[in-house]
Amino acid sequence: MIALAMFAVFAGSAFAQPASLPFELKQIGPGVYAAVDGPEHKAGSNAGFVIGDDGVLVVDSFFNLDAARALVGEIHRLTPKPIRYVVNTHYHIDHTGGDQVLRDAGAVIIAHRNVRGWVRTENVHLLGSQITPEFRAQIAALPLPDVTTGNDLTVWLGSRKVVIRTVLGHTGGDLTIFVPDAKVLFTGDMLWRKIPPNLIDGSVKEWTATDADFEHMPGAAQTVFVPGHGDVANLKDVEDFRAYLLDLRRLVTDGRKGGFTDDTLAKAVTPKLRALHPDWTISDRAAAAEVGYMADELTGKKRRPVPTAD
Ligand SMILES: [Zn+2]
Repeated sequence: MIALAMFAVFAGSAFAQPASLPFELKQIGPGVYAAVDGPEHKAGSNAGFVIGDDGVLVVDSFFNLDAARALVGEIHRLTPKPIRYVVNTHYHIDHTGGDQVLRDAGAVIIAHRNVRGWVRTENVHLLGSQITPEFRAQIAALPLPDVTTGNDLTVWLGSRKVVIRTVLGHTGGDLTIFVPDAKVLFTGDMLWRKIPPNLIDGSVKEWTATDADFEHMPGAAQTVFVPGHGDVANLKDVEDFRAYLLDLRRLVTDGRKGGFTDDTLAKAVTPKLRALHPDWTISDRAAAAEVGYMADELTGKKRRPVPTAD
C-alpha cells in the first residue's frame, strides 16, 4: 500500500508541467498523450506519443527544435523507457521541424516514402513568401527519414500494437497512426479542428474520402482523434471538418458559376463559409488561400508535389 501511495505521489509530481511549455500535454488513453499547440502557436502543430512495454513512439516533431526538446523532456519525465520511433504524418516542416531532436534522443524516423524526396525541397515551396535565410537553413538541415513506406505498417512496442496507415488527401505522402487498444487515431493534417486547413498540396476530393473513412471506422464514436491542428477531437469534429470541406467546394463551384474569380470569388465565398461555421476561426487570409486552391482543383490547375524516385 505504501509503495503504491508513494508511486502515486511520484507520478503526480512527474506529471506537473512547467508553465512555459509550448504545447499542452493531454493524456487521452493509457500511456497515450496528445501535445496540443497553444494559442500562441509556439509549437506550430500538434504532436503526441505512445508509451509501450519497451519503448516510446512519437507522432510528429513540431515546427522547431525547442518545442521538440520540450516534448522529449516531458516524455522523460513520464517514463524511463527509450524513445524508439518518431512517425512523421507528412513532410510539412511544422510537423517535421524537430525531427533531429528526436533522432538525437534515439528515435528512428518513419515516414511515407515520398517524404524523403520532399522534406528538403517542397518545404521551401510550402513557406512561400514567408521564407527567410534561417528557414532555408533549417529546411536544408532536416534529417531524411530512416524507414520509408508506401504501405501500411505495424509497429510493436513490446505487446502494444501501433498501426500506421497510408492515406490520401493532404500532401500525397500522408500517414495516420492508430493505437487500437486505446482507440486513439493520430490523423496528422487529415483533420483540423475548427481551423481552416492548408490546402496547398491537397486534393479535397481525396481528403473528404479519407475523412469519410475515419467516420466509418469500427468504434468511431468511441475513438479519440488527434488532429494536426486544433484541440483533441471526436467523431462530431470529423463530421464537422468534412462538412466544411464540402461546403467550401460547393460555394466555390457556385461562385464560379456566378462569374466570380480570384479576389471577387474569395469575397463572395468567405462570408458564406463563416455563416455556415460560426464557431470556426476563419481569417481572411486563410479563406482567400483556400478558395484559390479549391478553384485550382476544380479547374484542373492544382499543383501537387510529384513523387521522386528513391
Ligand atoms: Zn500539413
